[in-house]
Amino acid sequence: MFTKFNPMSVVLITGCSSGFGMLAAARLASGGHTVYATMRNLDKKGDLLAESTQRGGEVRILELDVTEDASTVSAMEQIERDEGRLDVLINNAGYAIGGFFEDLSEQEIRDQMETNFFGVQKVIRAALPLMRKTATEDSCGTKILNISSVSGRSSFPGLGAYGASKFALEGFSESLYHELLPFGIDVVLIEPGSYRTKIFTENAHKAQKSEDPASHYFKHTHAFRDQLRRMIKSKNGMGDPEDVAALIERVVNTKKPKLRYLIGRQSRLRLIIRALLPDRTFSSMMHKRIFGELD
Ligand code: NAP
Repeated sequence: MFTKFNPMSVVLITGCSSGFGMLAAARLASGGHTVYATMRNLDKKGDLLAESTQRGGEVRILELDVTEDASTVSAMEQIERDEGRLDVLINNAGYAIGGFFEDLSEQEIRDQMETNFFGVQKVIRAALPLMRKTATEDSCGTKILNISSVSGRSSFPGLGAYGASKFALEGFSESLYHELLPFGIDVVLIEPGSYRTKIFTENAHKAQKSEDPASHYFKHTHAFRDQLRRMIKSKNGMGDPEDVAALIERVVNTKKPKLRYLIGRQSRLRLIIRALLPDRTFSSMMHKRIFGELD
């Protein structure tokens, strides 16, 4: 599956204060890559520093908020000054807002797109001039990894804004793959299922209106959250994020990666069932699973 190839690369990762970004940064640094681990709030660098020290690697930490032009451009300028190249860009920063469409405000949906979709485009736009130069020098396998989700291929009720942001990311990345391949730059989509990170806990976002008992979806929202809590508590309910970090590392070390890598216990099965079943049957199966006997 992987053509192994392992020259040391200069890597930039967004969203490294926790989760996949933090683990991937620590892994890649301990594997010998030069890693620029970025985060929007440098006060949160403690976990990343502890993780990379424990693995015997050293990361270079920069501030980067994917919704801010100035911090994106300034991180890129620093890498150009220090390294003169950028081999791998990993667009990992993101969050998920829970909420049914009628409970989500337009602003909440726009904010979700701003980070998960336009934020990725902002970073890629700033990185491409340097990556294009890198790809035409002695190529180390120049690539952009976009951390998407199984929700970018099959969306869940109560997670429509997040699903839309990841579907948009998938469509954009597929076009970009075709556009950049002739220039020696690969685009890769990593599509995880559910993994135990702060996205479901400390970093979880909720539609403000979903807290209102008058919402049409109040009971469904609570059933959804109960189901999520059960998944978090259950030993096998969610995967170990280290598996996703390991996949990211394998893709970085691969000369000719594929466009898509789906990862997660339930994800493959979900997509197969989704493709085989009629829409109504799939929907009622999913409703039973998430909302129990509410419908
Ligand atoms: P996480 O632990 O919550 O990490 C998310 C990271 O993104 C944090 O470092 C967060 O920083 C950062 N971030 C959010 N907004 C940002 C912004 N505007 N600029 C820069 N950084 C920002 O969650 P995770 O699961 O590792 O998520 C990483 C990626 O994986 C996301 O794109 C997510 O959609 C995707 N994903 C996760 C799962 C899963 O099951 N965990 C499944 C599929 C896809 P702060 O600490 O400052 O908030």
